[in-house]
Amino acid sequence: MVRAFQLIVAIALLFSVLASAQTNAPAAPAQLSVNTSSPLDVKAATDAYLAKMPPARRAQSNAYFEGGYWMILWDFLISAFVMWLLLHLRWSAKMRNLAERITRLRPLQTVLYWVQFIVVVSVLTFPLSIYEGYFREHKYGLLNQNFSQWMGDQLKGLVVGLVLGAILMVPLFGLVRRLGKSWWVWGAVVMIAFSAFVALIAPVYIFPLFNQFKKLEDARIKVPILQMARANGIPANDVYEFDASRQSNRVSANVSGFAGTMRISLNDNLINRCTLPEIETTMGHEMGHYVLNHAYKGLVMIGVVIVIGLAFVNWGVNYALSRWGTAWDVRGITDVAVLPLAAILFSLFFLFATPINNTISRTMEFEADMYGLNAARQPDAEANVDMLLGEYRKLDPGPVEEFIFYDHPSGRTRITAAMRWKAEHPETTSEEELKRTLFEQK
Ligand SMILES: [Zn+2]
Repeated sequence: MVRAFQLIVAIALLFSVLASAQTNAPAAPAQLSVNTSSPLDVKAATDAYLAKMPPARRAQSNAYFEGGYWMILWDFLISAFVMWLLLHLRWSAKMRNLAERITRLRPLQTVLYWVQFIVVVSVLTFPLSIYEGYFREHKYGLLNQNFSQWMGDQLKGLVVGLVLGAILMVPLFGLVRRLGKSWWVWGAVVMIAFSAFVALIAPVYIFPLFNQFKKLEDARIKVPILQMARANGIPANDVYEFDASRQSNRVSANVSGFAGTMRISLNDNLINRCTLPEIETTMGHEMGHYVLNHAYKGLVMIGVVIVIGLAFVNWGVNYALSRWGTAWDVRGITDVAVLPLAAILFSLFFLFATPINNTISRTMEFEADMYGLNAARQPDAEANVDMLLGEYRKLDPGPVEEFIFYDHPSGRTRITAAMRWKAEHPETTSEEELKRTLFEQK
């Protein structure tokens, strides 16, 4: 996959998939005041939940998640190196020349260049993709696919990237040609509109390529979820279920779509592995995203980040082309052959913006957690789900680590919040959830 482009799609999908079952929260909750007259010791109760995961499992989850920090850096370094190769070897210029020989229509030249670009970059970064997406996931027992199934998803992803990228690149380069130096302001508007567009079509045209979605029929689950939805002012008649077990055993749910396509979906792992109270508290969290308009707020906040990012790209492109433009045979910022350079700069910006983007997401996730606790009133079930998410997200990081790397609150933050809520609502205590074994003791 083309990583710089993946980044854009990832940003778009961020709004489309706001959930992954309760996630993030600011690092603050642990320091907030707790009711000292309550019989519940919030910290001890939190530690008791954290102890449900056997130490060996915990070590494995930590290693997986911490490895992810390094992957952020390696992804950047390797894709930047590939982009530099395209410039240095003048492959980018050659791809442009070929596109110009085939057609005189500028928009079509952009599309032809893009097709060559995404294919070449996908091939060159393929070893990294295999390691990160296949071998590393298998090593930690987080992937249910064999190689050909995984490869099938990758190829579908490539086609999606090819089509969506063309839809983005044509107006973007059109703007650069028409507006010259001030392109980046309107370019950001185009990217934000594109993100909204991808989020809008994703539940209908993109996600079904990878998973089967169907309306949830099981009345034991559907009825209480729709009751909660109606009580919270959500005009839902259906909840969707999808076969995430095709890819992994991760427990998750999400709010996807935008405007008319917005919907709440839960994955089959959540249904198969969790109790009804756990499903309810997860749905309460997702409903929080919906009611609090997180899709729209997130778009505005990331929009600000994108404007700054494109201003940086504009500055960096002009600087680099004045020095090396001739050597690379890139004619200027209006030339599509500039794309690898723009991709390096855009990825570099987003690398440094990681804590900002994560904090935007994590803050909304924490809000959704609070909403879910109030809506479902199941703090013990919430703590159990938070523990299950600990299979793929380190449970107990330091505050700086959480600030930089967490797009959802850590397990410790979330369980602390749930136990603090429980301390104020002792009547909601659930002995079954408290005693429930979540992980096999190997
Ligand atoms: Zn969420």
